[in-house]
Amino acid sequence: MQPDFYIYGLVVLFGLAVGSFLNVLIYRLPRNKKMIFERSECPNCRTRIPFYDNIPLISYLILLGKCRICNAPISPRYPAVEMLNCALYLFFLHLDGLTLQFPAHCFLASSLIAIFFIDFEFQIIPDKITLPGIVVGLVSSIFVNPPGLVNALIGFVVGGGSLLAVAYLGEWLFKKEAMGGGDIKMAAMIGAFVGWQKVLLIFLGGALIGAVVSIIWMLFSKKVRSKRLIPFGPFLAIAAVVVVIYGDRLLRFYIENFLGM
Ligand SMILES: [Zn+2]
Repeated sequence: MQPDFYIYGLVVLFGLAVGSFLNVLIYRLPRNKKMIFERSECPNCRTRIPFYDNIPLISYLILLGKCRICNAPISPRYPAVEMLNCALYLFFLHLDGLTLQFPAHCFLASSLIAIFFIDFEFQIIPDKITLPGIVVGLVSSIFVNPPGLVNALIGFVVGGGSLLAVAYLGEWLFKKEAMGGGDIKMAAMIGAFVGWQKVLLIFLGGALIGAVVSIIWMLFSKKVRSKRLIPFGPFLAIAAVVVVIYGDRLLRFYIENFLGM
């Protein structure tokens, strides 16, 4: 047995545990429930969930996706968030090894998962995720290079500033809010973690994914077509994860093939 085995095992457990905490944030933050550390209850019958029914992934499988008391179905989002978070942690462990980049990437990925699901359902990006995220991004850049502190600060300004400009421009052109304050703070947070080059790449990717998905979505749903129900945050989150993983390769490809350097 390799010593690596234990580290991977620990990261799996930690990834699932944080994923379980993300489920709490995703459920409670947009509903303005303050008791983040309160015990969980079944949203249907309000019975408190005992610890042995609250084990990430395993409880969902044992209970076959239903509440033990009232049999109400438990959203498959719970195990999905836990597995997604765990998978990204494993991916970053593989990518970064045991460097300080690893916890920074994990923190960013978990924040993005929470934002993805909250913004998708409620069209809100909570300050309680983005503001601490900005602080963690900037502080970690003192120790993590790339991006390094200077690039992280520029990334913070370029990330937030670009969307702020889009917000002003959109309001001036369409006379209505085109970009929310939550999106601006989210972009500033991403910029603080990845630096200015990658945050620009993320805008490009997010806009591209957003445009494609929105067109397909509008073709199939009248509800989406009539109201403005498509948030930008989830696309930004997907693009950010892709760029954090493949960004260096994408940037190198771009420089070599399009700038001829
Ligand atoms: Zn129940």
